[in-house]
Amino acid sequence: MELRRIAEETELTLTKTQIEVCPLCAGTGWKTLPASPVQNKDRRVTRCDCQLQARTGTLLAAAHIPRRYEHCELTSLAIDGLYRSLAPARMAASKFVEGYPVDKTGLLLIGTIGVGKTHLAVGIVKELIRSKGIACLFYDYRELLKQIQNSYNDSVKTTELDVLRPVFETEILVLDELGAVKPTEWIWDTVSLILSTRYNDKLTTIITTNFLDGPSAKAEGVEGPKRSNRDDTLGDRIGDRMRSRLHEMCRVVTIEGTDFRQKVKSASFP
Ligand SMILES: [Zn+2]
Repeated sequence: MELRRIAEETELTLTKTQIEVCPLCAGTGWKTLPASPVQNKDRRVTRCDCQLQARTGTLLAAAHIPRRYEHCELTSLAIDGLYRSLAPARMAASKFVEGYPVDKTGLLLIGTIGVGKTHLAVGIVKELIRSKGIACLFYDYRELLKQIQNSYNDSVKTTELDVLRPVFETEILVLDELGAVKPTEWIWDTVSLILSTRYNDKLTTIITTNFLDGPSAKAEGVEGPKRSNRDDTLGDRIGDRMRSRLHEMCRVVTIEGTDFRQKVKSASFP
């Protein structure tokens, strides 16, 4: 009998702990602010911290940050020693978070693979969610195009608009590795639809790319053997029109890895 009573009591305590009510707001979701000396008659209330925490969790899950980048923080990006050259880019990222949404200009992060641009983009997203409660969505460019293409398949239940709606509407979109798919007419149209829709709706877009920010070979009149020796630029990959649209939407941040500097040199001295 005694044992049973203890067991029941233990169970009761456990249940109580699980449904512990927030001590700040007693479960109402609102907390009272300290009375202001000026308007001491009116009690002012604000969203309780427990509500903000819940919202942070929801927003982080909705941002679809890929597993391998989940740990990335702005503060965890190394900027000393060998990585000194990353300091200005990290500064630009922090400035962006600080200034948003007063300044809604996006970012175009340019740098070679492995230089830390995806880390920066994810760090920005997490910081915006935690400190400002802003809805963000992360998409790998290749993955997004693949999902749109899959939606044309009759056996797939999702429609093109199901995939695109959050891409069009989320307050901040990260498009990682822009240009990483060999361009076709369809890809140009799709990129143009996404960027133009967000531009028209004045929504902020953060782009990462490892293509040099230059006009297409066609626009520069580069042909023949010279063309085959020339690395593709952003203009080649997404079209000159979309490249200039990007410049209207974003501030360019070049991340100077050592490899990247070499590439710039060889591009200017063919
Ligand atoms: Zn609370």
